[in-house]
Amino acid sequence: MLTTTQEKTHSASRVQHLRSYYPFFSHNPNTIYLDSAATALKPKPVLDAILDYYETKSVNIHRGVYSLSAQATEIYESTRQVIRNFLHAPENWEIIYTRGTTTSINLLAYSLLRVKKELAPFFSAWHTPLGKGDIIVLSESEHHSNIVPWQIITELTQSHIYFLPVRKNGTLDDSPLAGELKNLPVKIISLAAVSNVSGVVHDLKNFIEFAKNKGAIFIVDAAQAVCHGGFSLRDNPADFVAFSGHKIGGPTAIGILAGRKDVLSVLPPFEGGGDMILQVTKEKTTYNEPPHRFEAGTPPIGEVFGLRAAVEFLTLPLCREIMAQESELTTMAMEIIQELGGTLYGPSLDEVNSAKVKKAGIIAFNLGKIHPNDVGTLLDEQNICIRTGHHCCQLLMQAWQISATARVSLFLYNTKEELLLLKEALRQILRLFGKKIQ
Ligand code: PLP
Repeated sequence: MLTTTQEKTHSASRVQHLRSYYPFFSHNPNTIYLDSAATALKPKPVLDAILDYYETKSVNIHRGVYSLSAQATEIYESTRQVIRNFLHAPENWEIIYTRGTTTSINLLAYSLLRVKKELAPFFSAWHTPLGKGDIIVLSESEHHSNIVPWQIITELTQSHIYFLPVRKNGTLDDSPLAGELKNLPVKIISLAAVSNVSGVVHDLKNFIEFAKNKGAIFIVDAAQAVCHGGFSLRDNPADFVAFSGHKIGGPTAIGILAGRKDVLSVLPPFEGGGDMILQVTKEKTTYNEPPHRFEAGTPPIGEVFGLRAAVEFLTLPLCREIMAQESELTTMAMEIIQELGGTLYGPSLDEVNSAKVKKAGIIAFNLGKIHPNDVGTLLDEQNICIRTGHHCCQLLMQAWQISATARVSLFLYNTKEELLLLKEALRQILRLFGKKIQ
């Protein structure tokens, strides 16, 4: 049995070992990277996998009759199973490669805009196409990429968005499910599993159940969930899941839209072009089956190689063990802000410690009246990278009646030592602004 001190040393040395996989740290030895919610650093196996594609294969997939093309195709296609396992998706789910969460949601929104009655066998609310008076349910805490595509769709269909209210602690108010929304024609509910501002891990069960009872489609934006504890379809049986590769240490410009194959089979494509067709005549085109129907043109082959490596790396026991300890660093960061007299946005330390609210390692805060941009700029002078602004969540800022926050976000490679340096740097900023601080 390890003593507590041994356990701590053990986990600290595990993190040090993990950091050795990230070339970023040898190129930037003095940098403290606390902006992983924007994008995660890339481990060496991901870089190797991308290089492997470009150096040893470099060819196009699917249409080549030669073996190199077949090899690249095999890796590209079999990665879909890697993603299925990652999401705990059943065999009858299909994995579509997109450019990221944003493209995944746009793809789905535009497809749902064009579908007529074909979805009725799967979703009873879809016995008519999306149209006048229909309701799309989002929340006030969504990222703009889960708001703007739907606003475009409502403009085109005269449907409406209902925004679930967000509470002061970042949790979603589900009372409208039994109230205002009860008798409304809800066709779509699209919610993030984890907020990129409050870090709240939303309890989606009631919303999913509501969607099922209504015969509506439930979509999960898992952009942050996949890098904070992971997203499992077993726990949250949604109809569609979207996420981005770069948030888990994969390359940029690759993401996933996952959904049931039979449902995707009745959806019209988003983009037209090569690879997504069965036959083209002068009169019309017959579309390929999913997933190819939704992957027009030469796909992001090198990016899929990199994404596969990112998922395989993240599911190594080393990473899983460190990820399971994220809450330690999260509460430490919250304690630091609180100790310095800052304002935390989202759940309180008590709510997190008592497990009343589950929170990922994303900590939004302000230091009194000091503008968050000043905090970010001054931290940069000390080689500490954080994000400041509205975090693409202007509705959340409006709900909380603020214009911006500073945000520290953590990933596997962050350490307690880094947070202590952050504390010291924040203390200096407070002093600079004339605050009396120990
Ligand atoms: N949804 C959430 C919750 C996010 O945090 C982000 C990015 O920060 C997105 C969606 C958009 O992801 P991407 O820009 O990779 O498409």
